[in-house]
Amino acid sequence: MYAQGQDGLMNTYRSPWRNRTPRTYALSATIIGFYCLLYFTDVLEPVAQAVKLQNKWYLYGALYCVFMTIGGIYMLRTHGNSRYHKLRITVNILVQIVLGFTLPFVMPFFGGKEFYWSYFWPLKYDYFFPDTLWGLPWYMALYTLLGSLVLTPVLALAFGKRWYCSWVCGCGALANTFGDPWRHMTSSSTASWRFEKYSIHAVLLFILGLTGIMLVDGFGGKQIGWFHELAGQTKWVYGFFVGSVLSGVIGTGVYPVLGPRIWCRNFCPMAAILGITQKAGRFRIAVKPDMCISCGNCTTYCEMGIDVRAYAQQNESFTRASCVGCGMCAHVCPRGVLKLENGALELNTDKAASGQLSIDF
Ligand code: SF4
Ligand code: SF4
Repeated sequence: MYAQGQDGLMNTYRSPWRNRTPRTYALSATIIGFYCLLYFTDVLEPVAQAVKLQNKWYLYGALYCVFMTIGGIYMLRTHGNSRYHKLRITVNILVQIVLGFTLPFVMPFFGGKEFYWSYFWPLKYDYFFPDTLWGLPWYMALYTLLGSLVLTPVLALAFGKRWYCSWVCGCGALANTFGDPWRHMTSSSTASWRFEKYSIHAVLLFILGLTGIMLVDGFGGKQIGWFHELAGQTKWVYGFFVGSVLSGVIGTGVYPVLGPRIWCRNFCPMAAILGITQKAGRFRIAVKPDMCISCGNCTTYCEMGIDVRAYAQQNESFTRASCVGCGMCAHVCPRGVLKLENGALELNTDKAASGQLSIDF
């Protein structure tokens, strides 16, 4: 069964670890508890020192790599007959181990700055704040500015948001490895889609506002006492609710019961920007006409809750802002109906104009 790569489909809901059972609720509570200890207490500091790591954040980084690697092995054993997934998951793990852990860990030993090369604004939200930029060597400041303003949107126009959300980002990589056993837990209801539309753009507006405030603060606002205080409090509120609670405690804690992309789907401001860019770009999921047998595998396994089957039934190729291009819908389709494509921009536009290509949120 592993050789066919479909074992994940055969036992998905039968396993008590992959359905909403007391076990998965307990696991979810454990993960939430871990994140609360990590973010809001110092009880993990002695553990970090005991294993010769600088602080609890390096301990977290090390655990992140370990769980991602274990999850990656599980994921490839389940769906590993696809070259796309073999390559994608390998890149995910390497990016995390090299850029997300080893380099930031090692660079301070050589007099360098701790810097996360695979994260860009607005996901790494303080990388646009003047106080952060002034403290970076010029080449790192240039990298983070060009990465956020040029590289990220240009690649999203060409390849969709998948280049980042499914290949580079540590949050997406954890979701696609450690979180893979629960991808079918994602809701595809209309209510969840409505919530997602408002929540993700609300967080985007929040970080745009905060970045504006921090820029004003960095370029003279500090002289005005009340404004400087407002900037500090707004930054704290964002860091607490978005940076800690939504991305960590909830975003990862609810993997086993609500699916692995709650943060990416509902709250990540980077995903919001990439999604808007994706809609204007070349990426799409192409549907072969009159092939779908309505089995629903694609919708069940879409970690972003997209009702892929509805598009396939209507012979409608589509681009959805929320699609992270994980490729699982195409992988689990027994009829080979779906294909992830980076079509020519003109073709995309023509099809949209003629109604053959749906570009919903
Ligand atoms: S539509 Fe397909 S490629 Fe896009 S997120 Fe869902 S499963 Fe992944
Ligand atoms: S597109 Fe494929 S996986 Fe989705 S419902 Fe149709 S046959 Fe099933």
